[in-house]
Amino acid sequence: MHKYPNSDKVTIKNAECGNQPTTKLPECDGISLICLSSGLLIQNIEQSDGVFHVYATSSIAEGTCPYCGHKSKKVHSRYVRGIHDLSILGHSVVIHLGVRKFFCNNPQCDKTTFAEQPGTEVFRYRRRTCRCETAIARHGILTSSNSASRLLSLIGIPVSSSTILRDLHRMRPSS
Ligand SMILES: [Zn+2]
Repeated sequence: MHKYPNSDKVTIKNAECGNQPTTKLPECDGISLICLSSGLLIQNIEQSDGVFHVYATSSIAEGTCPYCGHKSKKVHSRYVRGIHDLSILGHSVVIHLGVRKFFCNNPQCDKTTFAEQPGTEVFRYRRRTCRCETAIARHGILTSSNSASRLLSLIGIPVSSSTILRDLHRMRPSS
């Protein structure tokens, strides 16, 4: 009888891993590459008190007015939004998104300024990414709001039971 009954499995796994080609990505550029589909450019990542702080901006040079569709490069001002994302290894993730406010130069448009909405994961007035809201909604549907709140907190997505209920009531059933 072997002292370590699973030693054969470990040896095979190590051999397989050794044959795999490895790709080393640059520290920040690699993560940005993975997140390209999100339309965000990650500038820096810090960890403090068990929370990953991701500092990001839009990867697009110009903004598109959501009211008239006119494109603009003339920046009016900048501000930072704090948006919760899915956790990494059980640690909470907060995206500090630098948002630009642009002038709309279209004389036909009723608005003079607009804030950019980069990518497909970040929406206006939302405090969580789309994928984070989806994960919360799925937990809320499968269990009670109290259980979902406790489970999500354990995996680094802190959300109250009342917020889960409010989000579920806001969802429209698919037709
Ligand atoms: Zn406009």
